[in-house]
Amino acid sequence: MEAAPGNLAGVRHVILVLSGKGGVGKSTISAELALALRHAGKKVGLLDVDLCGPSLPRMLRVQDRAVHQCDRGWVPVFVDREQSLSLMSVGFLLEKPDEAVVWRGPKKNALIKQFVSDVAWGPLDYLVVDTPPGTSDEHMAAVDALRPCGPLGALVVTTPQAVSVGDVRRELTFCRKVGLRILGVVENMSGFVCPHCAECTNVFSRGGGEELARHAGVPFLGSVPLDPELCRSLEEGRDPTQSFPASPAFPALCSIAQRI
Ligand code: ADP
Repeated sequence: MEAAPGNLAGVRHVILVLSGKGGVGKSTISAELALALRHAGKKVGLLDVDLCGPSLPRMLRVQDRAVHQCDRGWVPVFVDREQSLSLMSVGFLLEKPDEAVVWRGPKKNALIKQFVSDVAWGPLDYLVVDTPPGTSDEHMAAVDALRPCGPLGALVVTTPQAVSVGDVRRELTFCRKVGLRILGVVENMSGFVCPHCAECTNVFSRGGGEELARHAGVPFLGSVPLDPELCRSLEEGRDPTQSFPASPAFPALCSIAQRI
């Protein structure tokens, strides 16, 4: 294995967050996992390579911030005052937040390469990478650029419905083909816990993610319930210091963070 170059030299673990299709909560899980790791005292970087749908700046309420240059490249945006959670996203480079990124493959690949090697990440326990849905050029570009960091972990997000589970199978095949270490499967939007009586209703079928993980011979990392409070706070922009003691989603993510 070649030594990690310059800006990646301080990165200890890389986790790519993948999903077979959009809308299953990949960005949500990426953001909440990063916050859960931060909550556990880790130094975390979040890299948004979902170039056509960068939602992390808004979710973490830093969409108005800008990245600056230093002698080692771009300085990522620090989400918290303690500077233990940093974020890099194409969203910071767009003139208007709703501007569409309509680039062809080579330009996207070049930007992803730059995001990995030209960002002054500093020492990080974890670099969490939010990827676009499916398996695209962006995934290959990220994997190639990050490979010098050592073994790359993959966390695959699904919802309980069978259609999503089918997509995940393809995602796991991709991970194996490109040599990612599969950390496991997370089932998101798994049951709705009533905020009034705490009873759990399975809005969709339940257990698909766990069954899939068992069949595929990969770990099942846990399920994250549908949490209206989480959805609302991400729409408004999440306060990173708020750990949501009353929310069923955040503790679920904290226990997933302990298992990776
Ligand atoms: P993806 O990145 O896979 O496209 P997002 O993370 O953007 O998906 O999530 C899609 C929508 O679902 C968002 O509005 C998000 O707030 C909501 N969402 C995701 N996970 C949950 C959850 N566990 N509870 C409630 N809402 C969720």
